[in-house]
Amino acid sequence: MPSCSIKNTHDAFMLRACTQLGYEQSTFELLLRASREIHLELPLRRDDGSIVVYNAYRVQHHNARGPYKGGLRYHPDVTIEDVRGLACLMSLKTALVDIPLGGAKGGIDCDPSSLSERELEMLTRKFVDKIHRNIGSNLDIPAPDVGTNAQVMAWIQDEYSKIYGYTPSVVTGKPIVTGGSQGREEATGRGVGIVLREYARRCGKLLDGKSVVIQGFGNVGSHTARILGQMGMRIVAVSDIRGGIYNPAGLDLRDVEAHHRKYGTVVGTDGAEPVDNSTLLELECDYLIPAALGSVIDGTNAGRIRAGIVVEAANSPVTYDGSRILEEAGITVIPDILANAGGVVVSYFEWVQNIQQFSWSLEVIQRRLNRKLQVAVDEVCTLVDAERCSYRDAAYRIATRRLKEAFFAAGF
Ligand code: GLU
Repeated sequence: MPSCSIKNTHDAFMLRACTQLGYEQSTFELLLRASREIHLELPLRRDDGSIVVYNAYRVQHHNARGPYKGGLRYHPDVTIEDVRGLACLMSLKTALVDIPLGGAKGGIDCDPSSLSERELEMLTRKFVDKIHRNIGSNLDIPAPDVGTNAQVMAWIQDEYSKIYGYTPSVVTGKPIVTGGSQGREEATGRGVGIVLREYARRCGKLLDGKSVVIQGFGNVGSHTARILGQMGMRIVAVSDIRGGIYNPAGLDLRDVEAHHRKYGTVVGTDGAEPVDNSTLLELECDYLIPAALGSVIDGTNAGRIRAGIVVEAANSPVTYDGSRILEEAGITVIPDILANAGGVVVSYFEWVQNIQQFSWSLEVIQRRLNRKLQVAVDEVCTLVDAERCSYRDAAYRIATRRLKEAFFAAGF
């Protein structure tokens, strides 16, 4: 990695962007560092009477363009370094799609699959109890991320509203019945579809019948599979934490979804052969879509990737080293801050609806999401064509410049 202040993947990409933009090292350091980092200890009494203490984090990276915004992750491997990097990534994402929000990320190092519903609810409410002064509609607005969902957001909303009065705009990604938005749940997957369609249109590529491998079948992976399937693409492999399934002729997504609903995993779906998660990444395909956790393509396996194009539906699935190897191999990468921005764009729409106390139809949401992402893809592709740079470099340059301009306009 290129500098001593570089701690993770986006830092390195951001340094590259700053260098290409001719910014001084001090500007890079300023843009990189978060304005506030919160570390909490959360004791929880388990159902069996034992007590466990979890670490909870919220990193508020940047609010010069609007309130801090970003997901809350429940995963046993969550660390402050990850959360810090993901918070910075959110600032870049909101800047790239040009919505008036900053960047933040939170996490609790728990394994939600091993907690009961009651334990999850207690933990979430306890988190709000400790953090409520630092979140809010005009301050910091959490949303779902890996291991959290609309239910977790409803608990946050409820606990927060007990203190401040009914405040749906304190979180996005809520259930529709408590003020959530139409189209929010599928928004990241729909966004992947829109970005891919616009990219293909700009490059004169046909998507129909092209093979797709998707790692992950959670909120992002499952909706991405469905939407790309509807666009006529051939989904040949999908996976979840238990493993993957592969059929080069194309999976029947209705069967996969039904199996997943019934057994909680895609593994065992009829008409497909099993494949493990690391082999799945190395399958030959037109589009490889990592849609689960970060750093799954790194310096050790990037050389074995046999996809034409990698689309980062997850946050930061390709490391800096992995990215260099893919680039040298001529594999295009559509970066996370563009590919998965549909989620936060519809979060923004949800926030606007809550503030206006008015709701928009699904049709309005989809039209506005389409428009937002079309503009972003167009800007990135125009820079790629003009500078002959990678999509990542173009996206990071546009986002970093917007961040810097807002930061400096706000003053010190
Ligand atoms: N967790 C999602 C992301 O990483 C959504 C964030 C949000 O909507 O605030 O983009």
